[in-house]
Amino acid sequence: MRNELINTFITRIAAEALTEELDLEARWNVFVKRTEATEEKFKPKLRTFFGVQERSVLSRMRRTPVPDLGKAVRAELEKAASPEARLAAQEYVDKVFDPEEWLIRFEDVELPFAADAFREAGQAVFVDIEVQAAFDVTSAQAQKKLKDLVSKTSLAVNDTTQARLRTALATGFDLGESIPKLSERVAGVFDIAKGSRTEMIARTEIVGASNQGAHQGYIDSEIVLTEIWIDSRDDRVRTSPHNHSLGNEEVKLDERFSNGLLYPHDPNGAPGNVINCRCTTKAGKLKKAA
Ligand SMILES: [Zn+2]
Repeated sequence: MRNELINTFITRIAAEALTEELDLEARWNVFVKRTEATEEKFKPKLRTFFGVQERSVLSRMRRTPVPDLGKAVRAELEKAASPEARLAAQEYVDKVFDPEEWLIRFEDVELPFAADAFREAGQAVFVDIEVQAAFDVTSAQAQKKLKDLVSKTSLAVNDTTQARLRTALATGFDLGESIPKLSERVAGVFDIAKGSRTEMIARTEIVGASNQGAHQGYIDSEIVLTEIWIDSRDDRVRTSPHNHSLGNEEVKLDERFSNGLLYPHDPNGAPGNVINCRCTTKAGKLKKAA
C-alpha cells in the first residue's frame, strides 16, 4: 500500500516534469522555426553583399600596383608572412577596402532582417501572455537596441574580412605573386565569407535580435516579472564553443542569469557565450491583475 502511494507520487512528479519538458521543447521548436525562416531570407542578401564587396576589391586591385618586396624576403618565407609583407599588405588593403563605406552598407543589409526578428519575437511574447496590443518596434528603446546590434556586428564582420584580406595578400606578396594569383587568394577569402561565415552571421544575428525582441516584449508588457532560460535542444549546440546549459533557470527581468548574461545573446556577453547560441527564454511569473 505504502509503495503504491510512493509510486503514484513519483509517477505524478515525473509526469509534471515531462509536461514541463514537452512545453519547453515545443516552445523551442516554435522559436527555431521562426528564426530559421528569417535566417533563410537574410542569407542570400549577405552573400550578395560579400559578392559586391569581392568585385569591388578585385576591381580596385587591378588599379593598384603590387608592392615589390625583393627576393631577400621571399627566400625567408616559412609559415608566417614576413613583417615587411604584413606591413605592405596592411597598406595595400587600405587602398582596396574602405571600412567606412562597408560599415554603412552592411548595416543597411542587416537592419531590416534584425528588425523583423525583433518585432516577431516581441509580438510572440504579447500573444503568449495574452497582452492585447501590438508590440512597438519603433519605440526609442527598441530602435536603440537594433541600432547597437547592427553597428556592433558590422564592425566585427568588416574587421574580420579586412584581417583575412591582409593575411592572404601578405603571403602572396612574400611569394612575389602578381594580380591573377593574388586575386585567387582574395576569391578564397570571399568564398568562406559567402559560405560558413554567412551561415554563422545569419544564425547569430537573427537569434540575437529575436532574444532581444523577446526581452523588450517582457519589459513593454509591464506584467512580466521573471524570465526562464530555455536551452538549445539541437545537436549543433554541443559542438559550438558556448557552454551555458541553464535549462529552466529563472531570474527577474533586470537580473543576470548565472552565466552573466541578461538573456541569450546579451550584446555585452563574451563571444564564446553568444556565437551560434540558439537558446531562448519564456515569460515566468506575471503580475496579478489589479
Ligand atoms: Zn545557448
